[in-house]
Amino acid sequence: MGFARRISTVLEMSLPPLWVQVWVEAGREGRIFTYSAAPALGLAVGDLVGVRLRGRPQIGLVVDTLAEVPADLDPAVIQSVEGLHQAAAVDPHWQALLQEVSRQCHTSLFRTLKTALPPGWLGQRPGRAQPQLRTQLWLELVESPQPLTSRQCQLIDRLRESPGSAAPQSTVMAWGFSRSLLQALVAKGWLRSSRQVLSGGGAPQPGAVQQSPDLAGGPLESPRPLNPEQQAALEQILAGSSGQEFLLWGVTGSGKTEVYLQAAAACLASGRSALILTPEIGLIPQLLDRCRARFGGRILEFHSGLSERARIAAWRRCLQAGSTEPLIAVGTRSAVFLPLAPLGLIVLDEEHDSSYKQASPMPCYHAREVARLRCRAAGARLLLGSATPSLESWLACRRPQQPASLLRLSRRISGQEPAPVRVVDLRQELAEGHRRLISRALMERMERLQERGEQAVVLVPRRGYSSFLSCRSCGEVVQCPHCDVSLTVHRLRDGSQTLRCHWCGHRQPLTSRCGACGSTAFKPFGAGTQRVMEQLEQELSGLRLLRFDRDSTRGRDGHRGLLQRFAAGEADVLVGTQMLAKGMDLPRVTLAAVLAADGLLHRPDLRASEHCLQLLLQLAGRAGRGERPGEVIVQTYLPDHPVIQHLIDGRYDIFLEAELQLRRQAQLVPFSRACLLRLAGPSGAATATAAAALAEQLRPQVEQAGWQMIGPAPAAVARVAGRYRWQLLLHGPAGADLPLPPEAELRAGLARSVSLSIDPDPIEL
Ligand code: ADP
Ligand code: ZN
Ligand code: ZN
Repeated sequence: MGFARRISTVLEMSLPPLWVQVWVEAGREGRIFTYSAAPALGLAVGDLVGVRLRGRPQIGLVVDTLAEVPADLDPAVIQSVEGLHQAAAVDPHWQALLQEVSRQCHTSLFRTLKTALPPGWLGQRPGRAQPQLRTQLWLELVESPQPLTSRQCQLIDRLRESPGSAAPQSTVMAWGFSRSLLQALVAKGWLRSSRQVLSGGGAPQPGAVQQSPDLAGGPLESPRPLNPEQQAALEQILAGSSGQEFLLWGVTGSGKTEVYLQAAAACLASGRSALILTPEIGLIPQLLDRCRARFGGRILEFHSGLSERARIAAWRRCLQAGSTEPLIAVGTRSAVFLPLAPLGLIVLDEEHDSSYKQASPMPCYHAREVARLRCRAAGARLLLGSATPSLESWLACRRPQQPASLLRLSRRISGQEPAPVRVVDLRQELAEGHRRLISRALMERMERLQERGEQAVVLVPRRGYSSFLSCRSCGEVVQCPHCDVSLTVHRLRDGSQTLRCHWCGHRQPLTSRCGACGSTAFKPFGAGTQRVMEQLEQELSGLRLLRFDRDSTRGRDGHRGLLQRFAAGEADVLVGTQMLAKGMDLPRVTLAAVLAADGLLHRPDLRASEHCLQLLLQLAGRAGRGERPGEVIVQTYLPDHPVIQHLIDGRYDIFLEAELQLRRQAQLVPFSRACLLRLAGPSGAATATAAAALAEQLRPQVEQAGWQMIGPAPAAVARVAGRYRWQLLLHGPAGADLPLPPEAELRAGLARSVSLSIDPDPIEL
């Protein structure tokens, strides 16, 4: 036995050893180290492998295979790859895409890869023992001259009887040997431990991807016959050249989704996969239902609401699919990186939505830009859909090179006219002695809901009970101790109230006495969703209410559950924040109301008008989707504001043209470019100093490139979660490269405690 073993060892040694270069997490850029790899692992470039770096387990990316060990390395010190985590995880085309994303976002390729891959797939592993997918620790016998104790001998004998003189560690421990005994034998050189993949090559285990059970057999829905506008849009999309971009501008309920589905069906039929993105996780359930009804098991879901396991399973399914089993992936922003190939189509529904932009952490990418890059590289079509297109996409239809094609759907499928908008002038209400949150006009309309069997949605810009709590005697507002924002009052289930910070999550009991003057006369100001619910309950007894905001939709399927209850008629009114305005299709809703539009109009942001009008038009689109006509009621102190006027006339294109002129004259985005550098640190003084130093470091290059630097200045909210925030804004010509040195150089001068993030083309300015 011993002799045979020795021969096999000699044979093994005569096989060419394989060396691989593995990119591992060390600093933000990652570093490449050489490891040895058992030939049996069959490693190739693009594989993810388990390795150790300074004793810590990591998953790294194989970037090169070597036939010989590099001359400057001593083979004796080279560590070995511990196991294959995922074969062919990164393909060259996909890596090239990420390279470009990392360039545009001005951050390292390693960071970008780590962001794009499923959580936990690249880089350091968390300290806690993370279950390693489908790999196992194996113990293998290697003869050693070191003497053995009798107990150790028992283990070695037992192992000799096992096939290949090896066994999984769990098996050996099940024989009754302790972990410390195993460790002693490894230390003596009698055992070698290594991670092994269970079912070779990283192929998914059967059943790892769960198909939705309800579809296993059920018949699939057939496509609807299209109306002439839909038909024309679809034909143009299908006839488009590869890499072509389309802007599908259609009012809500005009049948855009039907066009997406039929474009995706054509894509599948040609053996290519399609990707359908939606900005909000709350919109996923409805979209998934419609896609599953049409495509059954071809649908794959990917968003942050899924468990890590499910996301990994989805990723693996994409890697496997190829052209033999093209898929339709439905997901949020991060799904834009799914490794679908060949890819035929990317759809961005509600393309104007700012959730498509990642503001932090880096890379601060915009899914629309990534989608555009992907489509051009893969020869796929890009379909941007919205009832209220972004100014950028509107302009893309006029760009001189490769302009996007504008496709219009001007009518609702139901034939209903858009709901008329009624503006309630709150100044007048006040003048007439009516100072309630809910105007008389709105109250009258709500009173009749039940008898008519209709429903309403009411938008309240803020969640919680009231926006802030202030002292009537001295005016002091209760602030978060960690952030420069006021605390919001929230009501608990038992009716009691607490204070919460919406920025850092801090909570504290409601104070009964003013910290500044000792007065007990506290007054809540500004209405949140909870307070509106309370008022409606008091004034319209019998009206059944449901709240739809971030607090009430927590948990898996929180959105879906609430919407299902509302759709089933469990309530007459849905009171919610902005998420209410997006995409839901509820035929019995005939009234959409905004309680205080002013809060939305006054945001100190360049895009405030655009975003506010988009939101109000989206909300208006919720009313009158069924048979009965709808109505929109907007309460405001500023009825003459251009946004309100454009809402009334409903001509979004006229607003866009006016807004374009304004921005062109002032040379604002998108007629120029911006980049925001954000700094944050625990010391206000140190952060300010770092910002000033960074500005001086950058100034020559910025000015030479014809860019302008604004700041450094404290951020709009100057302190969050105890960290002081400063920013530097750069402004330059549209389409120009960022005038910045490499990221590492930018960071080099910063104190360790100060963080920096680079946000090219930020959404909020
Ligand atoms: P949008 O995405 O523009 O809001 P949808 O695609 O959701 O519009 O269409 C609105 C409603 O009309 C949906 O209930 C959809 O099933 C239905 N619909 C869409 N296209 C057609 C069609 N060609 N014929 C009949 N019904 C349609
Ligand atoms: Zn006071
Ligand atoms: Zn806070």
